[in-house]
Amino acid sequence: MFKNKKYSLSFKTWVFLVLFSIFILAFVWLFQIVFLKTYYESRKVSEVYNVSKNIMYEYNIKQDFHFLEDIALKHEMCIEVNLGEKTVYSTDIYNKGCIVAADLVGYKEKFINSNEEIQAYKIVNEKLDTNSIIYGINLKNNVYAFVSTSLVPLESTINILAEQFIYVTIFVLIISFIVAYFLSNKLSKPIIKLNYLAEYAYKAKEKVDFNLKSGIVEIDELGKTLEKNNKELIKTDELRRELMANVSHDLKTPLTMISAYAEMARDLNQNNQAKREENLNVIIEESKRLNLLVNDILDLSRVESKLDILDLTTFNINDLITKIINHYHYKEDFTFIFKNKKTYYVQADYKRIEQVLYNLINNAINYSKDDKTITINLKKVKNKLLVEVIDKGIGIKDEDIDLIWDKYYKSDKKYQRNTTGSGIGLSIVKNILINHHSEYGVETKLNQGSTFYFYLPLK
Ligand code: ADP
Repeated sequence: MFKNKKYSLSFKTWVFLVLFSIFILAFVWLFQIVFLKTYYESRKVSEVYNVSKNIMYEYNIKQDFHFLEDIALKHEMCIEVNLGEKTVYSTDIYNKGCIVAADLVGYKEKFINSNEEIQAYKIVNEKLDTNSIIYGINLKNNVYAFVSTSLVPLESTINILAEQFIYVTIFVLIISFIVAYFLSNKLSKPIIKLNYLAEYAYKAKEKVDFNLKSGIVEIDELGKTLEKNNKELIKTDELRRELMANVSHDLKTPLTMISAYAEMARDLNQNNQAKREENLNVIIEESKRLNLLVNDILDLSRVESKLDILDLTTFNINDLITKIINHYHYKEDFTFIFKNKKTYYVQADYKRIEQVLYNLINNAINYSKDDKTITINLKKVKNKLLVEVIDKGIGIKDEDIDLIWDKYYKSDKKYQRNTTGSGIGLSIVKNILINHHSEYGVETKLNQGSTFYFYLPLK
């Protein structure tokens, strides 16, 4: 019914509730009215059967008929005893036979001839419009007992019930319409409201309170999830804006310088060899900066995309670190300490881990102050290798610790032009380490230095 078409939640709830009430009503109708007669008759049959069985049992013990009086009275039944074809005992006061003679015509004979021990007959007396259930019992030695009870005509009762049932049906349907209306409203209202809020939050990119306190767990949970998404969306939007502003600023500065110095070299210093060279050097320097920045952005988008498949190999990490440190030999004022005696082999993507180490060591250099010592430590922890890059630099403020891994986050804007940083170095580190399923982090104290660390699987 609801397979392809779309209906509102309130309509669906309403339809289901009404259908449910109709189903229950139909069920009750079936049992109360349609099957009532059959049910009543089967109950009567089993009642007479039980009484008959009881008579068989008692007669066996007592060999006498007086006990039948009590049974007949108790169960409102009529019991006759026959010796052959002749009635010798009856529970009616005149002892004439309580079973209407016409009822039994043929049945007594039929039963006696059947040689059955016990047999039930339903006797329909059309003349008197009475039906009865009769059990014939063979008590042996030509003694037969007949137990009978009449079936009360149920037609009038059924008619009354049916009439009553029509009112009940109307009443139940009205109630279910009302309940369905309120229930569906209660369910759909908070969802409609959540949808409205989500739409608003999406368009306005504003913080929205999704906590409706609807009293329905699932809806309140949905509200919480939407609130989380909303916060994330705002954060991403802010970061995107910041990123755009920063990238364009960082791209614009070297570009302006390049074009300005190129013009100077062309127009003013054409004949002044030294000046021209100076101009060209600035152009080369700024082009390198641009190149670095663009490379960082490309790197980040690559490691961030799911397309970056790791090329896992086993390599000697001590060699890699030594190679990187050697690259920095021109930084004469810096002291690099890497004194690990033990050689470790790790399983990771060589190029990406090289990038992580470069970025961390670069940062350690960029954010160092007077003490320009940078230490790299390797430590085996369980079956993993802990790699630490330690500096004695400016440290990071507590409130910035979680943010520095975000794209383009620079805790101190004044460092912006001084360093070669693009503000996305740590974001690249984070993404590479996440791709490696590595644990990573930083321990830092303001003005005392920072220890950036990550774990790699040992081979
Ligand atoms: P940047 O290019 O600005 O260095 P990163 O993503 O590498 O970009 O780092 C983000 C920010 O984290 C830096 O701007 C700096 O504020 C902080 N940071 C990173 N490494 C260090 C460090 N070793 N010591 C102090 N602050 C650091």
